[in-house]
Amino acid sequence: MENNHEHDRHLAELERMNAALEEALKAAEAANEAKSSFLSNMSHDIRTPMNAIIGMTSIALSHIDEKSRVQDCLLKIRTASTHLMSLVNDVLDMSRIDSGRLALNEESFSLADLIHDIAVIVRPQAIQKQQDLQIEIGQIYEENLIGDPLRLRQILVNIIGNAVKYTQEEGKILVRFAQRLVGSGTSEEGKQQDMVLLDFWCEDNGIGMDEEFLQKIFIPFERVNSSTISKIEGTGLGMAIVKNLVDRMGGSIDVESKEGMGSNFHIEMPMTVEVQSRKGLELPAGSSVLLVESLPHRVEMISDYLEEAGLEPVHKDSGLDVVTWLTEAQYENRMPCAMLLGQELEDMPVLELAAHVRQSAGPGFPILLVSEEDWAQIEYRAVRSGVDAFVPCPLFKSRLLETLSALLNGRRTEEGSAGAMDVDYSDYRILLVEDIELNQEIAVEMLSVTGVQVEVADNGAQAVEMFEASEQGYYDLVLMDIQMPVMDGYEATRRIRALSREDAGSIWIVAMTANAFVEDIRLSREAGMNEHCAKPIDPERLQDILRNRFNV
Ligand code: ADP
Repeated sequence: MENNHEHDRHLAELERMNAALEEALKAAEAANEAKSSFLSNMSHDIRTPMNAIIGMTSIALSHIDEKSRVQDCLLKIRTASTHLMSLVNDVLDMSRIDSGRLALNEESFSLADLIHDIAVIVRPQAIQKQQDLQIEIGQIYEENLIGDPLRLRQILVNIIGNAVKYTQEEGKILVRFAQRLVGSGTSEEGKQQDMVLLDFWCEDNGIGMDEEFLQKIFIPFERVNSSTISKIEGTGLGMAIVKNLVDRMGGSIDVESKEGMGSNFHIEMPMTVEVQSRKGLELPAGSSVLLVESLPHRVEMISDYLEEAGLEPVHKDSGLDVVTWLTEAQYENRMPCAMLLGQELEDMPVLELAAHVRQSAGPGFPILLVSEEDWAQIEYRAVRSGVDAFVPCPLFKSRLLETLSALLNGRRTEEGSAGAMDVDYSDYRILLVEDIELNQEIAVEMLSVTGVQVEVADNGAQAVEMFEASEQGYYDLVLMDIQMPVMDGYEATRRIRALSREDAGSIWIVAMTANAFVEDIRLSREAGMNEHCAKPIDPERLQDILRNRFNV
């Protein structure tokens, strides 16, 4: 009897173990399957841009004298390389997340800049698919926040990018940002900090996902396996990365979706408010500003912004009213300090009105244009019609008031005065430390447009020798690769810093490396480097570094 009981217990135990093993086997098989389908997808995804790069290079070489043909090939090569780069970055991010090596940055950033950057990145893709992409902001209490803006941008671009990718041509995508005040929280060091909750919604009417897939959307390598989308490029890593980043930042993400109807993503993210004095605004308190706008919600928003800054908005919504009102104001010597032009009016195009006002009010009267359109597209016409400055949408209080203040105080806005940068650094000398010949060539070429003198070292050891043998102050800047044979960039930097000569401590050393993550930046700082520039080198970033260093 006793024995029977024992036997049953054993049997039950064995069955339980069996079930557990089976479960584990299933999980391992599923993981394996996901990994091997990832590998085969990946090799396909990598091969596609690689084929384009190799093919286009051959075509360019065989038509080397036909400028437009070569140019066309190069543009295609650039697109394919950018895509390839993003694939590699996704895979690297995922492996960092897997191994717990992903570090988040803590820096101050402007929400307005971040949202405008995102719009610049995603708009062209939506325009290409003739989609109606709206980016709106609701109540924003704090624009200056602390966090990791690059990772936040990655999250948002990924979600909006997917909405564009998985929505048919002429589809609709609505993106919305708002904030809620949540009082204060305590930082890791125990400091009291003001916090806001950032809400982000992205709604599309695209192909959507079914219930079953929605359960798996945040699992790495998972993609909807339908033939409709099999032609869409992707790795199935984006959403897993997004989910991980959102969790790491203490936020939450929800998805609702219906197959064939569309998807709706919502992120809620607590953010620390930056305590800093506001940029010095010089606005003439009590002066009136003529606000010409036909959309009621925008009239309300802009009026609030202006009133908060101590100005008095005078609202008009037709061109004719504006002309009559301004004529009287001019006659009675009570001109407003500026005119803000918004959306199209019923009775005349806004730029026509701008031209009219410019003519009657004279060249000194400030005219600002608030527009959804890309400034580069309308700049020529707008400036010719007499517009002085441009404020982009979604409309942030800081942007509006800073632009107005700059204009009233005689400075032109960034957008308004953006022109080609003519620099001449021929008095400066750079030591470029890079082991790969092709990379040397690329860097030298990028630097050559500035006229700067460049000397090249093939590895860290050679760099230290060249620096040691040079006269005091001979080099103005060192661009240092990290991974090199003989001696790496960290070691070379430490050795240069340890030399007993005056410029050993002061020479600017900029890390130039494919590792662009927070911990790599920390390592390069610890080795004694001043700045960090990720590879592949972005010419604009390189120019920024030179401009900073040479102070011109
Ligand atoms: P991928 O590189 O495949 O785009 P993601 O991880 O970004 O990978 O997304 C995983 C999958 O989730 C996509 O392949 C797609 O099937 C589905 N998906 C993501 N966003 C959307 C969306 N807005 N509409 C429909 N399907 C989506």
